[in-house]
Order: sequence, then structure tokens, then C-alpha cells
Amino acid sequence: MRTRFAPSPTGNLHVGGLRTALYAWLLARQSGGQFLVRVEDTDKEREVPGAVEQMLKALAWAGIEPDEGVVLRDGVVSQIGTCGPYIQSQRLDLYKAAADTLLAQGHAYYAFDTKEELDAMRTKEQAAGNPSPKYDASVRMRMRNSLTLPKEETEKLLKDGTPYAIRLKMPEGETLEWDDVIRGPVSFHSRDVDDQVLLKSDGFPTYHLAHVVDDHGMKIDLVLRGEEWLSSTPKHLVLFRALGYPIPRYAHVPLMLNSDRSKLSKRQDDVSVDEYVAKGSLPEALVNFVAFLGWNPGTTQEIFSLNELIDAFSLERVQKGGAVFDLQKLEWLQGQWMRLLPENEFAKRAKEASESCIPEVETDGDFLKKALLIRERITFFPEAPDMLECFYRRPAADIALMANSKQKVEAADLPRYLGLLESILDLIPEDHWNDQRILADVKACVESNGLKLGQLLWPLRALLTGKAFSPGAVEVAAVLGKAETMERVRAAMKVAGA
Ligand code: GLU
Repeated sequence: MRTRFAPSPTGNLHVGGLRTALYAWLLARQSGGQFLVRVEDTDKEREVPGAVEQMLKALAWAGIEPDEGVVLRDGVVSQIGTCGPYIQSQRLDLYKAAADTLLAQGHAYYAFDTKEELDAMRTKEQAAGNPSPKYDASVRMRMRNSLTLPKEETEKLLKDGTPYAIRLKMPEGETLEWDDVIRGPVSFHSRDVDDQVLLKSDGFPTYHLAHVVDDHGMKIDLVLRGEEWLSSTPKHLVLFRALGYPIPRYAHVPLMLNSDRSKLSKRQDDVSVDEYVAKGSLPEALVNFVAFLGWNPGTTQEIFSLNELIDAFSLERVQKGGAVFDLQKLEWLQGQWMRLLPENEFAKRAKEASESCIPEVETDGDFLKKALLIRERITFFPEAPDMLECFYRRPAADIALMANSKQKVEAADLPRYLGLLESILDLIPEDHWNDQRILADVKACVESNGLKLGQLLWPLRALLTGKAFSPGAVEVAAVLGKAETMERVRAAMKVAGA
């Protein structure tokens, strides 16, 4: 199967685009076919420089590499394949040729109406009780186009360079139907479809003509695209037929919704893939999340790698209704994928994320041990340096942090608790300094003094790490070693006036 992803380079890749690309890529991989990327740059005003490169990088980050079309080769935007060019602005002659064929066969016509004339038509139609006027069969014979003007006048207007649009002459009295792979049988009556503009006088096609010319020319079997294109499909069916091209299969993927079920906007920054990359999302987690936006495997399995998705994914299990974008689910998946990373891989990425803030991590032979202590406590790698800081920097003792009413630690009791800690820890011989021994001795001390474990462990953790959220006191003490632990305990005693 040949599938494609056809982004317009108007900004960053967003999560909806990633989903479309992912589904199309999975289907190509499943069937041993090809997945291609085509750049739809016909709206020059909205084009953002660098967007193509950025999108391809975001796809590559997610593990989605095109087999054909617009690709990154050694970091440079290039094109590969025999059905190119794959960038629409380089295909204008092909659209012109298709439009000429449609004109010659009476499936399209020139329209010279100015903006004012179009507005006047709408106003008049509305006044006559037509709430949503369209340029269609009911008005086309009243407008200024090559169907109504004498042939010589049309020729003269064209020769004089009068701006025009080439419009599709939508057939009348027809039901246009197709069997959508996701939505099942869909039909529209031709009377509800307008005479779509196909090509403008600047030579640029609209999406509609370009879609038909390109998906035919690029031998696409399955057009997988957003639901917003559903109501345009009848126009595309007419165009395929008029041009004598076989009609591809269509699969319209559901809209993405916010948790309040409002439509998720493309322009919202927080749905751009780059935002998630910057935040430290794992590609595995984002891909897993995106796969579930509208699809489910029909089992209770929730964690899927890209390879598992290739086996499990099917369009039959994609829902018609909107897919709710649930950020909590994304965080949960991120946490799951963090735990699934092999220890060494986790440590490697934690190190990369920390190097710029804590240069010592680079040469630390004990880094793995420390990284494993933060493993259960971070969801995103950018949180790593904050968690690791206590192993490399001595925090200032902070009474407000050591005292904690939930742990029943009153500031006034701190001198006593810290004194107890100092005396029991000091008794542990260097060669017995490990987390089990430290914990056993702290436990024995709280029992004989009628305290709760948290009354000693909370201040110990607070003075060792300087943070309210950190790895546990005993583990940190064990990694820091006896000398450093005692230094920090004694510094805290001083501050607490013990
Ligand atoms: N350029 C179109 C878009 O970004 C592509 C739609 C399609 O996949 O055909 O919505």
C-alpha cells in the first residue's frame, strides 16, 4: 500500500499531524508498501520558512521516516522517488495541464467575477432566503464566466490578463458516494456542493485540484486525512472521474477534541510536537499517546512501541467520533515509558539532560547509582538536574523545610531530632555505611525514643537534599558517604541551634 502525509508548511508539526503521519506510516509498514511525504505549499502567504525541515525532524524524532518524497538527507531537505517533484509549488505545470483537460472537456470553466460581484451575489441570495449561498449550479448562469459570456469575450478577457479562477462545473442531480474506510458509506447530493475554484490566475491550484492530481500521480492507494476534508470529498470524486483517474480509498480520521470536547486548534502551541520535545517527552510515549487518539486495540494493553503498533493497528478500530486529547493520559504514558527504559539508557539520557547545569556528572563514575535513585521520581528528563543537584552541591540548611507539620516535625524539636541523628549516624562504621544499616539504626532510635520514623527521616532528607521532593533520605545518605552526610547534619544542627 502507498500512503502519504501531506503537510502544509505553515508552522510546526502538531499532534494531529503526527497522528495522521503515524497512521499512514503504520499502514505502509504493515503492508510492505511505501509512505511518502508531500509538501503542500500552495498558500505562499501562510508559509513559514524552515517549517518543512522542522516537520521532518519532528517526524524523525518520533521514528517515522518517509520512504519517498520529501525527506531529510544528512539533515538537508531533499526529494527521493520517481513520482516527483513532491513539492506542490514545483508541480504547477501539472495542475495547469489537468485544468486545461477539465476545461476542454467541459468539466470546468473560467470565472471572472470580482470580489464585489461575488459579495453582491451572496447578499442577493441571502435576501432571497438562501442562508448559505454558494457559487453553484443555481447561480452560475447569472455570473460572469465562460459559460455565460460569448466565447470571444472570454478570450479577450484572458488575453487582457483579467484575473480569473477556473471552477469545477459540479454535475447536477447526482448522489456522490463512497465507502470511507473509517466512516463507512458516506453520500452527498451534488446540489449541496459548490463549483469549487480549482486554479487561480497566478497558476496556483487549490487543495482540491492538487490533491487529485498528486494522489493520482504519486500512485496513492489510500488517502488518510482529517475529517475536515470529508465534505470536500464529493468534489474530489467528480475530479477523479472527470480526469479518468481511478478513485483511491479514503479514510477520514476523527477530529481531536479538548477535554471539554471543543475542537482542538492547530494553532495552539501546546499541541506542537516541538513543545513536547522541549519538555522532555519520550518519543515512545508521545507516539503511544497519539496512536490512541481515535484508535484502540480492543484489548486492555495500553503500552505499545512503534513495532507493536505495526502489528496491532487497523483502521477498522479507528472511531468515527472525536478523539479527546487527554494530557493526563500523556503524562501517565510518559511515566510508564520512563520506567521501561533500560537502566543504562535512562542514566545516559539523565546525564545528557543534566550536563549543562551540573558539569560534574560527565566524569562521575558513580552516576548510574544516582540516576537510579531518581528514576521513579521524574516524569521528564529536564527534571533530572534538580533531583540530582543534592549529590553535587551541599544545600543550605533550611529550618522551614526541615520542619513539617504533616510529618509532626516542629521547628522547636529540630535540635533534639538532629542531635539524635548525629549521634546514631556517627556510630556507624565507615565500612558499614549503607542504606540498610542506616535505616535499621534510625528505626531503632525512633523506637527507643517514642518517635515516628518521619520525625527523623524528614529532617534528614531535607537537610541532605534541600528539596521537598527528592530521592529518599537513607538512599541519599548512602550515596553521599558518611563524611559528607555528617558534614551536612552538623551544618544543620548549627542552623537549628542544636
Ligand atoms: N495539506 C493538507 C492539510 O494539511 C493535507 C490534507 C491531506 O492529507 O490531503 O490539511
